[in-house]
Amino acid sequence: MRPDILNPLFAEVNVLPGVGPRIAKGIEQCAGPLVVDLLWHLPSGLIDRSFSPSIADAPPGVIVTLRVKVESHHKPAVKRLPYKVLCSDESGELTLVFFHAHEKYLLDNLPVGEIRVVSGRTERYGDDIQLVHPDHIVPESEIEAVQGIEPIYPLTAGLNLKPLTKAVQAALERVPAMPEWCDKAYLERQGWLSWNESLLAAHQPQSEADLEPDSLARQRLAYDELLANQMALALLRASMQRATGRNIGGDGRLRDAVRAGLPYSLTAGQEAAIAEITADLAEPHRMLRLLQGDVGSGKTVVALFAMLVAVEAGAQAALMVPTELLARQHFATLETLLGDSGVTIALLVGRGKKSERTATLERLAAGEIDIVIGTHALFQAGIEFSDLAVAVVDEQHRFGVHQRMTLAAKGKGVDVLVMTATPIPRTLMLTAYGDLQSSRLNEKPAGRAPIETRVLPISRLGEVAEGIKRAVENGARVYWVCPLVEESEAVDLAAAAERHAQLQNIFGARVGLVHGRMKSDEKDAAMSAFARGATDILVATTVIEVGIDVPEASVIVIEHAERFGLAQLHQLRGRVGRSDKAGNCLLLYAPPLGETARARLEIMRETDDGFRIAEEDLKLRGAGELLGTRQSGLPELRLADLAQHGELLATARDDARLILARDPELQSERSQALRVLLYLFERDAAARYLRSA
Ligand code: ADP
Ligand code: MG
Repeated sequence: MRPDILNPLFAEVNVLPGVGPRIAKGIEQCAGPLVVDLLWHLPSGLIDRSFSPSIADAPPGVIVTLRVKVESHHKPAVKRLPYKVLCSDESGELTLVFFHAHEKYLLDNLPVGEIRVVSGRTERYGDDIQLVHPDHIVPESEIEAVQGIEPIYPLTAGLNLKPLTKAVQAALERVPAMPEWCDKAYLERQGWLSWNESLLAAHQPQSEADLEPDSLARQRLAYDELLANQMALALLRASMQRATGRNIGGDGRLRDAVRAGLPYSLTAGQEAAIAEITADLAEPHRMLRLLQGDVGSGKTVVALFAMLVAVEAGAQAALMVPTELLARQHFATLETLLGDSGVTIALLVGRGKKSERTATLERLAAGEIDIVIGTHALFQAGIEFSDLAVAVVDEQHRFGVHQRMTLAAKGKGVDVLVMTATPIPRTLMLTAYGDLQSSRLNEKPAGRAPIETRVLPISRLGEVAEGIKRAVENGARVYWVCPLVEESEAVDLAAAAERHAQLQNIFGARVGLVHGRMKSDEKDAAMSAFARGATDILVATTVIEVGIDVPEASVIVIEHAERFGLAQLHQLRGRVGRSDKAGNCLLLYAPPLGETARARLEIMRETDDGFRIAEEDLKLRGAGELLGTRQSGLPELRLADLAQHGELLATARDDARLILARDPELQSERSQALRVLLYLFERDAAARYLRSA
């Protein structure tokens, strides 16, 4: 349970004074629904109200705070004209100007004959010096509250600065005194203040420098968030490893048989990855390993070897993939690779005949199936294994952490291998997985011909069709990708269907079509016709993006390439260049091109290196977007910016590791404080491990 001291922060913002439904809605949009969200909503600017000249010395166009005497009110004769209030000090006169004024409000707040403090930006109107709608009007006793530096918060439509600032202030007042979760010596070295002091300082910037991510207060807050993130991951990892490790080691007979039957020899990178994984499986702890390899680097066969270790040991293995199409493809590939080794494999997807499915489930539970391949259908309730020992998750960024864990929970101490073709920069990997072990396939299988990429405006479609025609006559197989934009799927599908019809006119019947709305057996039929070479051209939506492997395909045309992100373009392009046939990629765009789109296409033309592309993508898009935070199950960071706080991340990782090494039972005073930290950043699941530890 959440520590009681945090309760005031985990209430909805409408508990704050002055926050009604309308303001609450605005706050929810720009910060979040809870009081704690307001704490993380840091100023993006500031207004300095400390300049307090006499009226005569106030230049136009600057922010001033003036102490004035109210002289007289002047209600306009016509509504369109402003209401004016004349004020003065020893040096001169000042006019306060209000449009659409509420007379009563002004009479109450600016009583004639009294001294008031007003603050705002000066304007000259003829010889007059004016404040139009002053930001503040307060009695003299409150001058200090106004005459300082005021934070400016990011706003959203319909939410003004004043009520938001008030709400943040009210939220800050509810903040309890937190116990210290940071190492004292580290705090001193960094020159950081306590969390409470740092939070206040971050909300009360005194200069522009205080708004920077490297200001002491913001650094400390970012560090705490990263520490919470790293502690959560370390705890999860520790509990996984501690709970139910098992060592699996086979005798190698199945691996030898499969290796002997391979139509190619494994690359050095594949051999190394297989060795790392095998060694890891043989350890008594639980494996959680990432296999990174660019598109086409040959991850599938590595996965097969990992799964064979489980089968040799008399246990089962599962391979989970994001789409049904991919599940079928992997099933076919592995069936071929397994040959007559005697390993039984099965396919389990969402749809399909009920009777077949029931039979598969029974055999799975009885241990008659060694390897099962499927979609997320695999981790649904009701699916039981006899003895699941190894789970492989392909193209993992499509799955959340939760889904991976659910699959792992289907067996005792399941070893998990996640595979991704999206190269993950180190910082992102750390925040997503903590100290996940990883293997990398750095090279592609030998003999791969390079892919030539060209960028063309759609107006040259005629030329492209001509070129494709020649290529097809020479035996090429071609993907033709039409993009899907979610807002108007129907329209996009119509476009794909139309392109299909058009190409059929040019090329005859040997043009297939595959898209996400088709029934799975229709999809299969279209894919396998293309794989067999019964069709030469496959018009497709992005359903082919992930993992599809037809080595004979050598040309890919991507329409509206400007609509795709870099990672996606790279994935799509990776569908060709999977054999010794030279690949061709034609990126068609509809002008005019925006600057970012132009940059993306240029990078695609320049390089085929997935890691370089991922780095450029990070630069163009920023970390949060790289994998699509939602999709990837990546934690959302509110205060830390990986591009700015990378070093803090490394320290937080080391810190988390050290804490757990020194105090594995998490009994110390600091550990209790860390528990508060975890709940503060809503890492509740991880905090529970801490408690039961
Ligand atoms: P990805 O890493 O993108 O999942 P795949 O596992 O689909 O890549 O492999 C891509 C293609 O390369 C497949 O056609 C596969 O049969 C082939 N392949 C894998 N390993 C090798 C190798 N060592 N030598 C030659 N071809 C290989
Ligand atoms: Mg793959």
